[in-house]
Formats: sequence, C-alpha cells, structure tokens
Amino acid sequence: MTHDATHHEPHLDHEPHLKEGETKYCPGCGKALHVSAVACPACGASFERPLLGSRNRVIAALLAIFLGGFGIHKFYLGQKGWGLVYLLFFWTVIPGIVGFIEGIIYLCMSDERFTEKYG
Ligand SMILES: [Zn+2]
Repeated sequence: MTHDATHHEPHLDHEPHLKEGETKYCPGCGKALHVSAVACPACGASFERPLLGSRNRVIAALLAIFLGGFGIHKFYLGQKGWGLVYLLFFWTVIPGIVGFIEGIIYLCMSDERFTEKYG
C-alpha cells in the first residue's frame, strides 16, 4: 500500500458519482461539482452558498401582507423603484392587494427560491 494519505481530500478530490439534479457548475472553470461543494477543487474558486441571503423570507412576507400597501417589502427587498411606486399609489388600495398576494407567494416559496430571486 503506497497510497499517499496526506493528500486525501474527502469527496472533493475524487470526482464523486454526480447524480442528475445534484450537479452544479463552477462559475470559474465550469467543472461539474456536487451541489454541496463550497469550493472548486479544480480552480480554487470558492462560492459561499448564496442561499444564506441577507433577506429573510418570512419578514418580507409579513411586511408585504401588513405594510404591502406602502411598498415596505419592496424597500426591504432592495427594489426601491417598486417601493416608490407602491408608496405613490397606496391610496388606490391596489398596492395593498398586490402586496398581500406577494406576501402569500413569499410564504409559499422555498427559501432557496426566494434567495435566488430576492436574496
Ligand atoms: Zn473551478
């Protein structure tokens, strides 16, 4: 047995059997990686999972449902332009209704999907 144990990198060095749906591609070199990989073993690029977004889906949903008419959730999500539109038209009640629906949509989304879109 002359296997060099010092270079043993668990599950990143040896390409694992990548099942479909569990693969993502390195933004640096395009190598196929397991979705759980946080760094590319080929080019060294590290991609901290963007899934831990700075915005909380439930907070956004509550803001949308209760304060949606003022576009507060849009400001929260960094969509200031939309926030202003909602704010300007809050008296028409329409932003309130739209905000309420958006709140429900946020609640029904998965965290991943939400972060992908708004994170
Ligand atoms: Zn890479």
